[in-house]
Amino acid sequence: MMTESVIITDKLTKRFSNFTAVDAISFDVKKGEIFGFLGANGAGKTTAMRMLCGLSVPSSGKASVAGFDVYKQAEDIKRSIGYMSQKFSLYEDLTVKENMQFYGGIYGMSDKAIKQKTAYVLNTLHLQNEAKKLVRSLPLGWKQKLAFSVAIFHEPSIVFLDEPTGGVDPVTRREFWNLIYEAAENGITIFVTTHYMDEAEYCNRVSIMVDGKIEALDSPKSLKQTFQAGSMDEVFLKLARKAVRSE
Ligand code: ATP
Repeated sequence: MMTESVIITDKLTKRFSNFTAVDAISFDVKKGEIFGFLGANGAGKTTAMRMLCGLSVPSSGKASVAGFDVYKQAEDIKRSIGYMSQKFSLYEDLTVKENMQFYGGIYGMSDKAIKQKTAYVLNTLHLQNEAKKLVRSLPLGWKQKLAFSVAIFHEPSIVFLDEPTGGVDPVTRREFWNLIYEAAENGITIFVTTHYMDEAEYCNRVSIMVDGKIEALDSPKSLKQTFQAGSMDEVFLKLARKAVRSE
């Protein structure tokens, strides 16, 4: 049963001078849940995610992540989470193995644990023959799978994924999602932003942000019923049409 909440927000808000980027959002994410965080460009997703990762101090409201307070325990939060974005992930000029050793070291893992985990990841991703190749030489889809594996290398309780599958084809995205399911089954909570509506369908619950506010939050099935839509794409369009902001 998914009962324990690992992310709790209450009227969480971020203002930049007189502009409210994130406007009093309140929601909970349960342990082991795959939580989709959707919104059009400029809706406030990245700003909200940065507050939850302990990278940006909120203007008002409350939030706790992995049991830690975003105002007072940002360093504890950073130690408890994994993070993967399209921009920041692997070192292109290090080999596959060196990247894992590097991140394992940063996360404070022992040499033995790093060695075991490296073998496990190489095996699950079928990358044994690529271990000594530079990351630069890998196809994008493989880099993304490796980046995800590195983000959860230290077995964090939550992993934040900021548009992790940008630019890859649906088949590769589907493979990536198999890794996400496996991590969730192992109790890692997944918080993911995406522009791809097929991915929204894979989430347990989805929130949709419009102009800084959460306009809808439910399972994909219930959202489709509520908005009398045949797909998440349609749900999204119905809500995003209301947006004033656009970038
Ligand atoms: P995208 O999908 O394009 O990344 P997003 O939903 O993540 O969009 P944010 O990046 O959170 O949106 O931005 C929300 C709004 O806040 C935007 O209008 C943006 O211009 C504004 N914003 C973000 N960071 C700052 C900042 N440091 N100073 C001023 N305004 C900001």
